[in-house]
Amino acid sequence: MAPASSLPAMTWSPPSRPDAPLSEWVRPVHDWPKAGILFRDLTPLWADANAWARTVLALAKPFDAAPPDLVLGIEARGFLVAAALAAHWKRGVLLARKSGKLPGNTFREEYDLEYGRAALETSADILRPGTRVLIADDVIATGGTAEAAHQLTKATGCTPIAFAFLVELVTLGGRARLESRAPVHSVIAFDGDGGVRVAE
Ligand code: AMP
Repeated sequence: MAPASSLPAMTWSPPSRPDAPLSEWVRPVHDWPKAGILFRDLTPLWADANAWARTVLALAKPFDAAPPDLVLGIEARGFLVAAALAAHWKRGVLLARKSGKLPGNTFREEYDLEYGRAALETSADILRPGTRVLIADDVIATGGTAEAAHQLTKATGCTPIAFAFLVELVTLGGRARLESRAPVHSVIAFDGDGGVRVAE
């Protein structure tokens, strides 16, 4: 069978110790999807039951005392994060989808990505005003995507209470961009010099 991709073979492997820092389950992929991008691939973390369970607990912890009413997940990997948090608190999920995927009336917000431009949409007219929403995604880079999700949440009449990310790319400055809007929580933070902070 032909390989699905022409990427060079990668030598990376996940840790063997179950108590290893969570950052060790994040696979770095250089020059993907474009030259110059260091992509943080969470596939190994999601595939490991113990690492994923630890991550969900660490992501939820600051909000356990007063969980949101609803968790908004950003397409596509943010859906996983939002669904896991919502199940942890027995709360509902709201989808921030890419263009043209949602039926009915929608709100739309355009934004810049680290590598491109995109738009997010969410359903209008289905949520009670004042619903407390946590905005969740896998990675915060420049913060543009989460900022658009924040605008969408406000457009629905809901109240964004905070942002939650599995991974923060510190040097791209997303936290500073978002913190004037709502508190930002991340579990694993990579800085540009190889430093890593894990909040567990
Ligand atoms: P941004 O809007 O710049 O904060 O980009 C965040 C979105 O792009 C998230 O939905 C991530 O899934 C994705 N993303 C951006 N940069 C990376 C990266 N270096 N590694 C993994 N995902 C990324």
